[in-house]
Amino acid sequence: MAIGMANPEAAAALDFAALRREFPLLDQAAAAGRPLVYLDSAATTQKPRAVLDAERDFYERCYGAIARGVYRLSAEATALYEAARGKAARFLGAAAADEVVFVRGTTEAINLVAASWGRANLGPGDEILLTGLEHHSNIVPWQLAAAATGARIVVAPIDDRGEVPLEGVARALGSGRVRMAAVAHVSNALGTVLPVAEITRLAHAAGALVLVDGAQSAPRMPIDVAALGCDFFAFSGHKVYGPNGVGVLWGRRRLLAALPPYQGGGGMIEEVRFERTTYAPPPQRFEAGTPAGPQAHALGVALEWLAAKDLAAVAAHEEALARGAAERLAALAGVRLIGTPRARAGVVSFVVEGAHAHDVGTVLDAAGVAVRAGHHCAQPAMEAFGVPATVRASFGIYNDGDDVERLLAGVARARDLLAR
Ligand code: PMP
Repeated sequence: MAIGMANPEAAAALDFAALRREFPLLDQAAAAGRPLVYLDSAATTQKPRAVLDAERDFYERCYGAIARGVYRLSAEATALYEAARGKAARFLGAAAADEVVFVRGTTEAINLVAASWGRANLGPGDEILLTGLEHHSNIVPWQLAAAATGARIVVAPIDDRGEVPLEGVARALGSGRVRMAAVAHVSNALGTVLPVAEITRLAHAAGALVLVDGAQSAPRMPIDVAALGCDFFAFSGHKVYGPNGVGVLWGRRRLLAALPPYQGGGGMIEEVRFERTTYAPPPQRFEAGTPAGPQAHALGVALEWLAAKDLAAVAAHEEALARGAAERLAALAGVRLIGTPRARAGVVSFVVEGAHAHDVGTVLDAAGVAVRAGHHCAQPAMEAFGVPATVRASFGIYNDGDDVERLLAGVARARDLLAR
């Protein structure tokens, strides 16, 4: 189900209080009488026991080098690593496991495409289309690629709501020179859900490829790369309740097969001679160095754990919390919402007039409410709203209505203490 179409019945069928108890960090804080209101899941998510156990289990039962050793442990470790690839492919609705490249995270995935595809395909006069909502991770790699090739960046602007109107996308594509559109699926700064399927249709019609930055959508809504129609999709393990240090780049097999390597090293070659080296087919071509076996395995477990929860229900739950929080914050005197998108995932950004976002964050922290304060690595989006920073509350599978109440009480207190 598409986000923006909250389905309260589906959400009601999930026991979110029980889910929260699966997270040792949150459970321990509650047991110690200091229930933590964790509202920074857009930055990183807490980990459920199943994921912590999976990583530990890998080390305890079958730890060995991936795709290197001939001994039993290595074979078992390799089998688990490859099984995780299959799980990631299923999570994304990908056609095949070998379309999944394990990387360090969204940042590395985008750098890989920008560097490898960019250097091979961009030239002077070519354009890379971004939106005004992008995270720095989906801006800077393209600037580097542009600087190396003579291509240039063009931007589809955001409007007063913090949405990206399709007219702006179509106008930019009208130059006929856009070769790649790289767009966020969900804005980490404002919570806007971008119409990536429509953007993809427009981009393809204009002869451009599409990379979707799924860092914020993968944890928050069902993902189907076939339905989105995109060419590349990137997300981070640590934001989908999985471990740090691992993430996924999905790419169409045909495109990956045509890409030169990104990094060189062990594991990505067929044959190395000083005169000439031949490269392994994808995905190994893009996985130079010793793979992160335990992390990839635990990511696979996280994706299965999440997918088993009915992602449409999870999306509806987080959307309802964010929407409720946004409405209540907007009604609070002295508080201004930054971004009022009609399709909002579980993120709300706001400022308290006359108070710095960091100070509001500090008062909230004293009340046991963890939020993010800053520019959220999306300075162009902040600039569009004329603010240097916002306070951002972002919801995860473990949040509930009580967390919204504690947030609201904390914000009102911060306003009373700080605002002049
Ligand atoms: N894109 C978006 C939209 C994000 O929210 C983030 C993380 N805040 C990233 C990219 C980068 O992800 P990572 O730091 O895990 O590579």
